[in-house]
Amino acid sequence: MPHTLDHFYIDGAFVEPHGRERIERIDPATEIAMGSAALGDAEDARRAVAAAHRALPGFSRTSTAERIGMLERLHDAVLARTGELRDATIEEYGGPVSRATWVSKFAAQTFLDAASTVRDYAFERPVGHSTLVMEAVGVAALITPWNSTAGSICGKVAMAIAAGCPSVVKPSELSPLQSLLVAQAVHEAGLPPGVVNFVNGRGDAVGSALCTHPDVAKISFTGSTATGKAIARMAIDTFKRLSLGLGGKSPTIVLDDADLDTAVPAALTAAFQNSGQACIAGSRLLVPEHRLDAVLDRVRRGVAALRVGDPSDPSTTIGPMVNAAQFERVQRYIRRGIEEGATVVTGGEGRPDGLPRGYFVRPTVFSQVTNDMAIAQEEIFGPVLCVLTYRDEDEAVRIANDSLYGLHGYVFSSDLARAQAVARRMQVGRVAINGMQHDPLAPFGGYKASGWGREYGVQGLESFLEAKVVMTL
Ligand code: NAD
Repeated sequence: MPHTLDHFYIDGAFVEPHGRERIERIDPATEIAMGSAALGDAEDARRAVAAAHRALPGFSRTSTAERIGMLERLHDAVLARTGELRDATIEEYGGPVSRATWVSKFAAQTFLDAASTVRDYAFERPVGHSTLVMEAVGVAALITPWNSTAGSICGKVAMAIAAGCPSVVKPSELSPLQSLLVAQAVHEAGLPPGVVNFVNGRGDAVGSALCTHPDVAKISFTGSTATGKAIARMAIDTFKRLSLGLGGKSPTIVLDDADLDTAVPAALTAAFQNSGQACIAGSRLLVPEHRLDAVLDRVRRGVAALRVGDPSDPSTTIGPMVNAAQFERVQRYIRRGIEEGATVVTGGEGRPDGLPRGYFVRPTVFSQVTNDMAIAQEEIFGPVLCVLTYRDEDEAVRIANDSLYGLHGYVFSSDLARAQAVARRMQVGRVAINGMQHDPLAPFGGYKASGWGREYGVQGLESFLEAKVVMTL
């Protein structure tokens, strides 16, 4: 099996790409060149769609038990590669080792979660005086971001398989090694040829070829809101079914009865997870006006204890930004916050002390932030946290919901019933109370500009299915 970044996985084999372009790979922690990887073109996309389309009639008629068997084999194959996936995650975007370890295991687990979702799912059931038949929607294009490569690819592939849809994976051009490892695991799992295919390439080449191809029935996309909009426009001409997992600007509401010694450290973890490069980062911290000083005191201490640096060091909490462009973007937002009149509580522009190389930024917290500022409204995708104050619970909910986005929320309170009532008023797809829980069998997705539809759980499975009603006299 080839181990270079020069092949794509199409129709059950690793093949030479048609596209001739290559992308340079840079280790974001050292800025050292790591060689290059092949990028495909529209012809590579067409070959992969053709393979998936050939697999469709047979694969969509497989039994649930057969597909569960495939999911279990995929779980084992990806699990066997978690060490390599962890290392590739560190190398390709500087994910801190604790996060990289978690995401590699999460990637394997998605196959068992999909198996457990589909095991009890009734693909046929009575409705009214008819029969409802849930059928595989067809060939799916699975387009993923760089900040959660293996997790995102495996979560989508798992549901496509559970539903009976062959797929073409188009990973981020920044993640060729992580993608290759998943493709190798897919090959080892021994699926029928064409059921899962991988083509690397740029969004405007391979991505758009998939989004406009008449034989692609479904797109499951995770990435930025801007790209999500472009994909929705492309997809409409052929009426593709569309799931969009997009950006976020998630609020963390600390209620006035919260224990600040546990709430503030947890809020910092929510904000700075994955070095702040997380769609669900809790990047707006909403605190009662009269507790601001007590919160900021704990914020200063908490941020001082964070370790920025070598992502492979287990004591590191914040690694580098993925590339130079993302480093500059974060710097621009820090300058913007200062220009808008926010106060730097800790951090600021420039590199952290002692880190002259690598795309490292200083974890930065702003106070005196109002919700109309760009730093409070726009997704920065780095370790930058805005602290906003509110006078009462209604105002907290109003500020939380005053956002284009609606992906995730966090609530801290010593009164569970009160926290749950606030959670129910938030316009977001998920709310975590007093921590950072994850529920793999529950749907995941966002309100408003955070996306369309849901992944995972029954809703995630149904996003790969069409409903047909069969009526008899
Ligand atoms: P991105 O939008 O730049 O790229 C995502 C993918 O889309 C890549 O594979 C890219 O090549 C492809 N793409 C780009 N242009 C395209 C086009 N015109 N047609 C088809 N495909 C195209 O996003 P990114 O920088 O890789 O990821 C970060 C973003 O992803 C953040 O906004 C983050 O919030 C979001 N995200 C969301 C979730 C979620 O589940 N909601 C999860 C992870 C990341």
